[in-house]
Amino acid sequence: MPLRPLCGALRWAAAAGRRRLGSGAGPRSARGAPDFSSFVARTNTCGELRSAHVGQKVTLYGWIQYQRQGLFLVLRDFQGLTQIIIPQDEARSHVKKLLSNAPVESVVRVTGIVCLRPPGQENPKMPTGDIEVKVETAEILNSCRKLPFEIKDFIKKSEALRMQYRYLDLRSSQLQYNLRLRSQIVMRMREYLCNLHGFVDVETPTLFKRTPGGAKEFLVPSREAGKFYSLPQSPQQFKQLLMVGGLDRYFQVARCYRDEGSRPDRQPEFTQIDIEMSFVDQGGIQRLIEGLLQYSWPEERGPITTPFPSVTYEEALADYGTDKPDTRFDMKIVDISDFSRSLGIHFVQNALSYPHGTVKAICIPQGMRYLKNKDIESLKEAARSQFNQEIVDIICRPDGSLKSLLTKFLGQEQQSELVQALKMQVDDVVLLAAGEHKQVCSALGSLRLESADLLEAAGLVLRDPTAFHFLWVVDFPLFLPKEENPTELESAHHPFTAPHPSDMSLLYSDPTKVRSQHYDLVLNGNEVGGGSIRIHNAELQRFVLEKVLKEDSEVLSHLLDALEFGAPPHGGIALGLDRLISLIIGAPSIRDVIAFPKSFRGRDLMGNAPDYVTPEELEPYHIQVSWPVAEAEAKKN
Ligand code: ASP
Repeated sequence: MPLRPLCGALRWAAAAGRRRLGSGAGPRSARGAPDFSSFVARTNTCGELRSAHVGQKVTLYGWIQYQRQGLFLVLRDFQGLTQIIIPQDEARSHVKKLLSNAPVESVVRVTGIVCLRPPGQENPKMPTGDIEVKVETAEILNSCRKLPFEIKDFIKKSEALRMQYRYLDLRSSQLQYNLRLRSQIVMRMREYLCNLHGFVDVETPTLFKRTPGGAKEFLVPSREAGKFYSLPQSPQQFKQLLMVGGLDRYFQVARCYRDEGSRPDRQPEFTQIDIEMSFVDQGGIQRLIEGLLQYSWPEERGPITTPFPSVTYEEALADYGTDKPDTRFDMKIVDISDFSRSLGIHFVQNALSYPHGTVKAICIPQGMRYLKNKDIESLKEAARSQFNQEIVDIICRPDGSLKSLLTKFLGQEQQSELVQALKMQVDDVVLLAAGEHKQVCSALGSLRLESADLLEAAGLVLRDPTAFHFLWVVDFPLFLPKEENPTELESAHHPFTAPHPSDMSLLYSDPTKVRSQHYDLVLNGNEVGGGSIRIHNAELQRFVLEKVLKEDSEVLSHLLDALEFGAPPHGGIALGLDRLISLIIGAPSIRDVIAFPKSFRGRDLMGNAPDYVTPEELEPYHIQVSWPVAEAEAKKN
């Protein structure tokens, strides 16, 4: 989605400008549009002046965006741009000298009179394009040294350089827009939760201790030998303890930490809108989140409709091959196992003979027109290398006949049955896979997304870039086999998630079959939230930790104790704020909606963190670094 310029986007900013016209600099009600010029010496911002201001003497503060031959300059602040006319008369030659010699991005004050631009020189693309300010006095508040890059949205610069000089990148209208929109959305969320629904904003500690399961945590050394704090992955335990403490409805704009190494578009520290409620069920949390998003949704992105559709985990996997389906386009996975049973094809029969054996396919619309042979080959290769899954392609020729390795095994009738089952049309390409259900679904789900990318790169619009498709995914399994050791189980969400009431008895006989009261919120194929109804019974929680997950429950004795003191039934959810905002804006990365993000490798390229500390500084923590390693690292950098 093309990113919107700042000026058009900040409706409330323009509204503030209009209000100023009528009321001068008088006080504003706390609930009205914000007053951007309160408490400071400027009369207006650089995005505010219009023809109705003509004749007024104004004082503006801003950065020199552009200066031309000592005749005029463009002054910029967070709200927009104003053209400034540099005086040419002898009496003000010092002002001319000052402004003509100031390097771009120097910060200045100008005072002058608002005038209409001469006829024909208006700039309809600029909100302030009807006027200019004729300078009377000016002051260079601070001059700018040679820039590492130009502060213009259309100038491409490397991300590493942008991160190193993040404070300069923040001056771009795009980042200004992103951070201000984020702030407005969070403000609306606070309003909805606290003012409309009685939630209490509570801060919870960031120095805590290790939590079993889940992501890797950052450690913080303490002065007690061998003891470390952990930075929490989320305030999960605290928010449950707040429910035991009778807070009833909690929320927090919570900073969370996960030491997940380098992963594209993940940040080691990130923000969640963290929510917990007592006496609530899954439907209650879902309606709350739908209301919250509707209330805080930016008007310029169009309305969102509620309730959001919902699918079960099993349905999501079967239809889309993933637990976070992108429902903006069709191309669902079709199960043709029944049809395939009668075919005398060896690899198909072989696959169907195993437990969970299946034959499935996706149909790529107009694939022959938009994909090259090498695209189809690369899709097949991706399935092979990433999922160990062979794929057979079937092409529907212009005369309606099929081209595939399989056709020699299919009679005419079977071919037309296949065309019908897959709803194939001329020029469509089908990718077919036979094998174990989950593996086949995952491979086809991934190919579905990759082929959508290829089709779009070739010019077919499949996913409306302005559409927002929310989806609830429910009825997850409570436990999944551990990736590194499939004979052991781990929580699909976290160990505090309650089993589905209808599957309670299975917990003791076959825990792998138990569904949970865990729900995820998906937006355009991205997980933007997840939560669950919690276990509030100490005995059940102890059973899950000790008997199913084989965890040391001692680490969680505080929580287990608390559940024994009349803990209310409770549940909650967390929304990933960075991801949500980046999707709303259409930003290419979550780094674009975080003021000071870490690099792909988890480093702060501006301040150069993490950094070395001396052995003396480590002494109080009883820690020694093996220095040869550290020195080698230092040399590498
Ligand atoms: N603490 C969970 C998470 O960070 C969210 C929740 O269950 O409320 O994913």
